[in-house]
Amino acid sequence: MTLDQRDIGPDAATLTVDLGALVANWRMLGARAGTEAGAVVKADAYGIGIEPAVTALSSAGCRQFFVAHLSEGIRARKAAPDATVYVLNGMLPGSCGLYAEHGLSPVLGSHEELLEWASFRQTGATVRPAALHVDTAMNRLGLWPGEGRSLAREKAGVIAAAEIGLVMSHFASSEDEADPANARQIAAFAEIAAAFPGLPASLLNSSGHFLKGCPAYQLTRPGYALYGGNPTPGRPNPMQPVIGLEARIIQLREVEAGMQVGYNGRWTAKGKRRLATICLGYADGYPRNGSWTDTVTGGSAVVGGALCPFVGSVSMDLIILDVTDAPAGSAVRGAPVTLIGGPLDLEAVGAGAKTVGYEILTSLGRRYQRRYVGL
Ligand SMILES: *Cc1c(COP(=O)(O)O)cnc(C)c1O
Repeated sequence: MTLDQRDIGPDAATLTVDLGALVANWRMLGARAGTEAGAVVKADAYGIGIEPAVTALSSAGCRQFFVAHLSEGIRARKAAPDATVYVLNGMLPGSCGLYAEHGLSPVLGSHEELLEWASFRQTGATVRPAALHVDTAMNRLGLWPGEGRSLAREKAGVIAAAEIGLVMSHFASSEDEADPANARQIAAFAEIAAAFPGLPASLLNSSGHFLKGCPAYQLTRPGYALYGGNPTPGRPNPMQPVIGLEARIIQLREVEAGMQVGYNGRWTAKGKRRLATICLGYADGYPRNGSWTDTVTGGSAVVGGALCPFVGSVSMDLIILDVTDAPAGSAVRGAPVTLIGGPLDLEAVGAGAKTVGYEILTSLGRRYQRRYVGL
């Protein structure tokens, strides 16, 4: 992805979203799995915007979407009128009517939910098939594996009444290939899938696509990797970058040894340094934990191709950079700097802010000028 400097807004930072790369990543994951890939578009499509993401993916042929909340499901449904939209968090008591009204499929994860959905269906309501979530490790959402298997045995019971269209489970640590929990979950889910013969099954999240010896079943559920996150941390990123974040330098100054910089003077110059202040801060979703103090390292930005460390606290609307080592002429008033992109991939930005790339993506601010490119 290349960023054209002329397209960067006059004041706010600019977030560039490459929808072509999003679609290429979705195709690559489906081809790799050798089965149908759905798309997880919860949390506003991990921050990039649910409407543009769903529109781009459904035009490319994606037919099954996953969101976390009912309200997200309603937005996804508008952008993809014919797709199946699963709501991962299931449904709160009394909300079956809203699922029917918007043609959404709840992911049912408890007996109470199953019974409520089954009895709602018996009122003659037109609903789409729901999914059944079986918890194979996390103790978070879903039926116990034993409960799932015994429900499968009672053919005319609540499962038939609820009209289940998909059985699924979720990995707890698939990004860590060496974690023995993966093999346990793979085995537990194989038993579940076998207990529901003929029912489509779904297990793989992004990193699951790269686990050796894991069947892909009939549908996969990638999220993070679609948006360019590395599903194989510690190894080269097989995905194309989808987002780029640029801000501008608004002021420059020189400081002398011993001068303190930023709120609470948490950074002290060790010598003569050239500093640049840029127009982006934690109110734009850049974590304050990216602050770089006398004792703790933090985030960086790319200026003229050089990696320049943050200086002091990340403020609400501003970050200060040490641009002493930036190439001559690159750190000038109005010049663009890159916060996400090039060497600063989502993993690097996450590490600099003591968090994960997932949180960097889903925290992307609402104040950016957003540019959708690539389609
Ligand atoms: C968020 C989520 C996914 C997607 O996970 P990624 O690691 O982002 O690919 C898949 N399935 C469930 C149940 C989820 O909650």
